[in-house]
Amino acid sequence: MTSGNGKPAYWKPEEETLARTALEALQLDRLKKTVGRVFDAVPFYRKKFEDAKVKPDDVRGLADLARLPFTTGADLRSIYPTGMLAVPLDEAMRLHTSSGTTGKPKALFFSRRDVDNAAELCARSMVATGVTRQDIFQNMMTYGLFTGAFVMHYGAEKIGALVIPAGPGNTERQLMLMQDFRTTTIHITPSFALYFADFLEKKGLDPRKELNLKRAFVGAEPYTEATRRKIEEGLGLRVFNSYGLSEMNGPGVAFECQEQAGMHLWEDHYVMEIINPETGQALPDGESGELVLTTLLREAMPIIRYRTRDITSIVAAPCACGRTHRRIQRITGRADDMLIVRGVNIYPQQIERVLMSVPKVGRNYLITLDGLDEMTVKVELSEFGFDGQLEHVVELQNQIAAQLRAEILIKPKIDLVPPGTLPISEGKAKRVIDNRKL
Ligand code: AMP
Ligand code: ZN
Repeated sequence: MTSGNGKPAYWKPEEETLARTALEALQLDRLKKTVGRVFDAVPFYRKKFEDAKVKPDDVRGLADLARLPFTTGADLRSIYPTGMLAVPLDEAMRLHTSSGTTGKPKALFFSRRDVDNAAELCARSMVATGVTRQDIFQNMMTYGLFTGAFVMHYGAEKIGALVIPAGPGNTERQLMLMQDFRTTTIHITPSFALYFADFLEKKGLDPRKELNLKRAFVGAEPYTEATRRKIEEGLGLRVFNSYGLSEMNGPGVAFECQEQAGMHLWEDHYVMEIINPETGQALPDGESGELVLTTLLREAMPIIRYRTRDITSIVAAPCACGRTHRRIQRITGRADDMLIVRGVNIYPQQIERVLMSVPKVGRNYLITLDGLDEMTVKVELSEFGFDGQLEHVVELQNQIAAQLRAEILIKPKIDLVPPGTLPISEGKAKRVIDNRKL
C-alpha cells in the first residue's frame, strides 16, 4: 500500500511500525507511570488498589495488569462529576460525556495533551485509510457533548484536509455540501449511512457518477459485514470500520487500514485484554470475549482496566499494511445487549446479519419483545425488486423466519413494512424495544 508519491501511507511510521518487543516495552513503561499516577492522585483508585491488596510496585510486567481491579461504567457514574480527575481541574481543557440514555452521564475530562493525543490517533487512523491533505472531509456525526465528531474533526485538521463540520441530519443540505465541495470522505453512523443511501436511491442519484465520495468512516454502533456492503454499494465508496468509546477519547481507539480486515488497536496508547465477561478471566488471542482497555497516556483522567462491555477478539497475525499494532475483529455486540429469549442467548447483530443478507429486505429493522418472550421483527422492504403481491409477502416472511430460526434457534414473527416507515435515528439507532414484563 502506497500513497500517491509512492511512499507507504503512514502518519508517523516510527510509531505505527514499532517492533513488537519495543512496543511492549513502551507499554510497560507507560503502564507503570499511569498506575503510579492514579495511585497517588486519585483516591478512588488508591482505595480500589488497597481493597484488591495491590500496590503500583506489583506491576513488573504487562501480565501483572491482571492483578489490578477493573473499572466499570458504574464506577464512572459513581464518581460523577469530578471524582476520577488525576490533575487539578484547571488543567482540564475539555469535558465530554458518554451517550448514556438514563441517569447521570459519565463525565470525561481531557487535558491539553489529551486533546492533542486524541487528534493524533484520529490523524493516524485516517491516514491509514488513505486520507491526505487533498481530501474533503464531511463530518456527519453529532457535535456536542458526544466525543464522536470532535476528535475526528481535529484529527482531519492535523492532516490538513478540508473539514466540513456538517453534523448529522438534514439530508438535502448534506447532499448539497457533497456536490458543491466535492466531498471525498465522510464520518457517519451505520444507520444514518443506510438512510442516506436510501435517500440517494429515491432521488435517482447515482453517487458513482454524481458524487466524489471515496470512503466513509463508520462506527459508534455495531453493524455487520453485510451492512458494510450495503453502505458501500449504496454510497459508492469504501467503508472503514471505526471503533472508539468516550471513556477512551472517542473514535481513534481502533481503526481499519486499507486491508479492511480488522481494526488496529493503537497499543502505544492503550493496553487491551479480552476477558470472559462472566468470570473476568483472560481469554487467548482469537477467542471472543469482552474488550478491557487501560489508558497509557491520558493525563486528566487515566482509566485502568475499563470494562467496555463490547464483544470482540484479538487478531494476532501481522497485517499486510506493515503496522505492528494488533487488530480486533468487528464488534459483534455488547455484553449488555444480549437478549435472553425463551432461554436462548441472542445478540441483535445475529438478527441483523440474517436480515441484511436477504436481497429483498431494505435497510431498517426493529426488534420488539412483548409479553412472555414474543419476538417480532419488523423489517422494511427494499424500495426495488418487490412487487407487493400477498403470496410473495407471505413467502418472504416465511423465508426470513426460517433463516432466523437457523441462526438464533427461535422463530420470531416477521412483519414486513413499506420502505421508509420505521423510525430512523441520526445518532445511535435503537434496534430493540423490550416490553416484556418478566
Ligand atoms: P460512546 O460512549 O457514546 O462513545 O459509545 C461507545 C460505544 O459505541 C462503544 O462502547 C461500542 O459499544 C459502540 N461502538 C463504537 N464504535 C463501534 C464500532 N465501530 N462497531 C461497533 N460498536 C461501536
Ligand atoms: Zn493493517
